[in-house]
Amino acid sequence: RVKEKGKAHFQFYQGRMDTIHRNVVELETHLRKALENEELTLYYQPQLELATNEIVSFEALLRWHSKEFGLISPAEFIPLAEDTGLILPIGQWVIDTACSQIKQWSEQFNREFRIAVNISPRQFQDQNLVDTIRHAITKYNIAPDLLEVEITEGTMQDTAAAIPILKKMKKLGIMVSVDDFGTGYSSLSYLKQFPIDVLKIDQSFVKDVMTNNKDAAITTTIIHLAKSLGMDVIAEGVESKEQAQFLLEADCAYVQGYYYYRPLPANEIENIMMNR
Ligand code: C2E
Ligand code: MG
Ligand code: MG
Ligand code: MG
Repeated sequence: RVKEKGKAHFQFYQGRMDTIHRNVVELETHLRKALENEELTLYYQPQLELATNEIVSFEALLRWHSKEFGLISPAEFIPLAEDTGLILPIGQWVIDTACSQIKQWSEQFNREFRIAVNISPRQFQDQNLVDTIRHAITKYNIAPDLLEVEITEGTMQDTAAAIPILKKMKKLGIMVSVDDFGTGYSSLSYLKQFPIDVLKIDQSFVKDVMTNNKDAAITTTIIHLAKSLGMDVIAEGVESKEQAQFLLEADCAYVQGYYYYRPLPANEIENIMMNR
């Protein structure tokens, strides 16, 4: 039964991928228009302080509800956006929208929440990235440390290029986190060279933390590493009470995952905030 179900799902997925491959030019055309057609939205996933269960921040995650193709996941369209360069205008829209949301929520709830946005390698290479961020912070008149950029280890591989950009970001006062930490190819030496505020433990380590000794050891080590370096640490992909308990005992400060909340549209976040 399970096998049948898995097979059906696979076929559906295959079918959809075939459609997408056949229509890759069409998909690109639609993605190009997605912004002006208002088909792109940001969902927000709460990040909690583990010890208190307080929501302290959010990660902004792109969603594309295409009129033509239905809901397309970022794993599918971000690579296309990267290849075509469309990630630049899309990324600018993400930064602007996140800053606008920071402004709106801090007024609405009379309390400050940080929002983290994902920055892909191509965006990071864009000469205008820091100016785009500065412009949005000024436009909405928000405290710069309420905006966080998530970059991956891959983005930092070109050390000579990355360091001056990160320094400009820190001068601006925004927060910098390393997403999917521990999964990229890079030496630990960048942790001492780069101004990094937060390590995000990749969900692949958190997933089997209860059953796999190595995942447990890696998770614990990242938590210690962050603490020793004076950085914050957050575990991604927390899906169970047991994982949360493990992380609490390992002294992990922040958590994010389906066990707490899925990524949600802004209005649903507002309902949660008003009922807490
Ligand atoms: P990411 O930044 O590592 O985001 C975490 C992903 O894990 C998200 O997938 C989130 O929905 C999912 N997730 C959160 N909690 C759990 C959990 O408990 N269990 C499981 N299994 N998954 C969980 P999503 O939203 O599909 O995004 C996928 C990736 O797409 C992101 O990975 C990020 O690399 C990229 N992405 C998303 N939004 C943006 C964006 O605005 N700009 C750029 N450049 N990339 C984005
Ligand atoms: Mg992320
Ligand atoms: Mg991640
Ligand atoms: Mg990821």
